[in-house]
Amino acid sequence: MPHYDLVIVGTGSGNSILDHRFADWKTAIVEKGVFGGTCLNVGCIPTKMFVHTADLAASPAAAVRLGVDAELRGVRWRDIRDRIFGRIDPIAAGGRDYRTSHEDNAAVTVYEGAGRFTGKKEMQVTFDDERPAETITADRFVLAAGGRPLLPDVPGLSEVDYHTSDTVMRVDELPERAIILGGGFIAAEFAHILDALGVHVTVVARSGALLRAEDEDISTRFTEIALDRFDVRLHRDTLRARKTASGVALDLRGPDGEETVEAGLLLVATGRRPNSDLLDVAATGVATTDSGHVVVDEYQQTEVDGVYALGDLSSTYELKHVANHESRVVQHNLLHPDEPVAADHRFVPHAVFGSPQVASVGLTEREAEERGVRYVTATQEYAGIAYGWALEDTTGFAKVLADPATGQLLGAHIIGPQAPTVIQPLIQAMSFGLDAHTMARGQYWIHPAMPELVENALLNLPLDN
Ligand SMILES: Cc1cc2nc3c(=O)[nH]c(=O)nc-3n(C[C@H](O)[C@H](O)[C@H](O)COP(=O)(O)OP(=O)(O)OC[C@H]3O[C@@H](n4cnc5c(N)ncnc54)[C@H](O)[C@@H]3O)c2cc1C
Repeated sequence: MPHYDLVIVGTGSGNSILDHRFADWKTAIVEKGVFGGTCLNVGCIPTKMFVHTADLAASPAAAVRLGVDAELRGVRWRDIRDRIFGRIDPIAAGGRDYRTSHEDNAAVTVYEGAGRFTGKKEMQVTFDDERPAETITADRFVLAAGGRPLLPDVPGLSEVDYHTSDTVMRVDELPERAIILGGGFIAAEFAHILDALGVHVTVVARSGALLRAEDEDISTRFTEIALDRFDVRLHRDTLRARKTASGVALDLRGPDGEETVEAGLLLVATGRRPNSDLLDVAATGVATTDSGHVVVDEYQQTEVDGVYALGDLSSTYELKHVANHESRVVQHNLLHPDEPVAADHRFVPHAVFGSPQVASVGLTEREAEERGVRYVTATQEYAGIAYGWALEDTTGFAKVLADPATGQLLGAHIIGPQAPTVIQPLIQAMSFGLDAHTMARGQYWIHPAMPELVENALLNLPLDN
């Protein structure tokens, strides 16, 4: 039975750990799918490439208001799809080739199969082809096996053709109509993509608002805008899914009774879950939370000495920048076990690349209330800054929360054009402890640029002095 110094399971963020400093280690990588993981192949990167394309497709409709009569003459779906994956697929293949055949990786064994623990620090790898399963052991494991779409318990779902974010970006044809089941960030991004590319979109959500995890003011504004743009059904229970001649139907129950929505395509976007069950982490003695996330300490170390976990498998943030940060922490702690560093999860931002875009860091107002911290808030509409006039934006705003005594920022939430970029100085201020007044008045803000939104939101804060 081969024994390794280190085995890494999963080639998303886990793949970046092995570099020249591990050249003397006997290492193995286990990957059951495509090299590069979720972000590269089915997550952040292709979705944002589609979102940008969708933004372009939506721009003629927006331009009319400004006096520019542009026209969208058509959308070449297969060209769009093939351009995007024509860039992504070679990167994934290149990553695989590098690990399997480049001389830098002479000491790395790649197992292209599914790993499952069968005992303490003992893993069985099974392969898709006829090859017999292999069992490997190691002194150290890094568990970076990510997560997968969570399917709701809807009667009939398994009998209809449905998509998840793993498959929907590769369809051959765009349907005339699509149903998106779910109200979170994946639903929001795909609603924008599909709608802008000419698909009639129905969004079905169980709760009364979309992007419910955001600050309530942001979620409310986003939902209002979505209700204008898409067919949004809120407060709906999905009773069953049925096959129809042209696709799929969902029978729903809502405030006004039962109703049916039909479409050529169903996208299920009701959340994700960690792959800890498929990995059977319990067999190596690693604990999980109720949500299935692997339990780690601040050093990304599980309860089992030498077994680390990172990314979506262990982190409820389920964000690529968090997985990247954690993989750097694990890399350091493998190389320097006597001087471990802790992961920094104090100010984790996130963004939703829908339309409008949303970005957020720190506490929402509800969280600040629940924690009983003293806070004040201020908002600034895009419509009140010069660049917002240029855009003729009527719906976007920034909201900031701060400690009134010290001016330290507690949270920031933006909905509107370029929100994920505009928020970055606020993330920086929170990370480095810059107070609102110093931040607003201690630097120039380019006029008339979008960050004046942030400057004005900060100046609007009713601080104690
Ligand atoms: C549609 C979508 C859009 C997203 N957009 C964003 C975004 O804009 N910004 C952002 O920050 N995040 C985004 N995310 C989240 C982001 O993709 C993830 O947080 C990130 O990819 C997690 O990385 P990871 O290394 O933990 O796991 P992954 O990248 O999922 O890697 C896990 C790897 O482990 C492999 N594996 C799993 N089980 C086994 C096993 N038993 N044996 C062997 N191999 C196994 C998998 O095949 C996979 O390659 C998005 C996700 C989705 C689905």
